[in-house]
Amino acid sequence: MTDLIFLGLFFAAIVIGWMLGRRSAPAVRLGGNYFSGQRPVRDIPADTVIDSLADELSSEGGTVGTRIALGIQLRRRGEVDGAVRIHQELVARESLPAGDLARARLELARDYVSAGLLDRAEELLLELLRDYPAQSQAGRRHLLEIYEIERDWRRAIEVARPLLPRKLALEGRSHEPGLQRGQRVAQRLAHYCCELAEEERLGPDLDASRKLLHEALSLDKRCVRASMLLGQVEYDDGHYLQAAKALRRVRAQDPDYLPETIGLLRKCYAALDDRKSPRDYLLECLAVRPTPALVAAVAEDMAAAEGDTAAREFLAAQLVEYPSLPGLSQLIGLQQGASQDTSRADLGLLRSLIQRLAATRPTYRCGHCGFAGKHLHWNCPGCKQWGSIKAIDGPGAL
Ligand SMILES: [Zn+2]
Repeated sequence: MTDLIFLGLFFAAIVIGWMLGRRSAPAVRLGGNYFSGQRPVRDIPADTVIDSLADELSSEGGTVGTRIALGIQLRRRGEVDGAVRIHQELVARESLPAGDLARARLELARDYVSAGLLDRAEELLLELLRDYPAQSQAGRRHLLEIYEIERDWRRAIEVARPLLPRKLALEGRSHEPGLQRGQRVAQRLAHYCCELAEEERLGPDLDASRKLLHEALSLDKRCVRASMLLGQVEYDDGHYLQAAKALRRVRAQDPDYLPETIGLLRKCYAALDDRKSPRDYLLECLAVRPTPALVAAVAEDMAAAEGDTAAREFLAAQLVEYPSLPGLSQLIGLQQGASQDTSRADLGLLRSLIQRLAATRPTYRCGHCGFAGKHLHWNCPGCKQWGSIKAIDGPGAL
C-alpha cells in the first residue's frame, strides 16, 4: 500500500514538473504591428530615427522641435553627452519662445537624470516649476523620479500632493484616476507614506508611524501595504486585536496578498490565546480564494488540531484541484510520518528533490513588466511601478 502511495506521489511530481516546464517560458510579446509592416515608432531602430532627424536638420535648417527630438533619441540610445549638448545649446538661446525654452529645460533635466546628475536635474526642475507654471505637472513628475531614486520620501510627498485631483485633495479620499501619466498619484503617495512609516516604526514613536499609515489608507483605501504595516505596528505596540483587524482588511483590499498576512495573524491570535479564529478565518479565505499558500496553511492547522491523517486527506484532495510543488512537498512530509523505514527514506529523497526544484522557481512576479524574483518588492526594480508585484500563487498556479 505504501509503495502504491509512493508511486502515486512520484508520478504526481513528474506531472507537476512537466507542467512547470510547459508554463515556465513567459510569452514574449512583440508590438502588435511588428509583422504587419506598420511598426510603431518605438520599434524602429534608434539609428534610423536619428538619421532621419539629422537629414531633417540639414535640409530645413533645424527647427527647435527637431533638435529636441534628436536629443531625446540620443538619450534613449545612451548617448547622454550628445543629448545634453543639444538641449544645453537650446536653453542658452534667450530669443527662444517661452514654451520651447521650457520644453528644452525639461529635456535637459531628463538628460541629467539619465547621467546620474541628480542635483543639477533637481535644480533645473525647481526653476521650471517656479518660472513656467504650465510645465509644473511634467516638472513635478520628473522631480518625483529623482526623490524616489534618492529615497527622499518627505520631498516626494511635498511634490506629489499638488498633483492629486482637486476633489481628492480636498476630501482626502481616492476613487478617481490620477492626473499623471502612468500610476495614479494617490497610489504613489500612499506608498511614500508607507516608506516613511517603515522608517518611523524603527524609532521610539509608533504613533508617528500609525498616523502615516492611516494617511496612506485615506489616500488609497486599497493599499494592502498600509494595512500589513499597520498590523505590524499594532502588534509591536501590544494591540493584538487591532493588529488582527488591520491584517484581515487585506482580504477585501486585494486577496492576492492574503498569504502575506498569515504568519503575523497567527502570532496575533496566539498572543490572544485564540486558536479557533485564525483557523475559521483561513477556511473562509480558502472558500473565496483557494491558493496553494492558503491550502498549505489550512493543512498545517488541520495537522495540529486533528492529526496528520485528516491533513493528508485534505491536502491530497486540494492538490488535485490546485497542484503546487510546496503542497506536494507538504503532503510527502505528512506521508513520511506514517511510513516504514525504507519508504520513509525514499519519500525523504523525493521531498528534497521537489524542494530543490521549487527553490529554483521565482516566488513573486510583477504584473506590469514581468520582473520575477524571490522577494516581495513594493517598488518594482524592473519598471518602478508601486504595488505591482505579487506572489505567483493564484488559483491553479504551480
Ligand atoms: Zn515591474
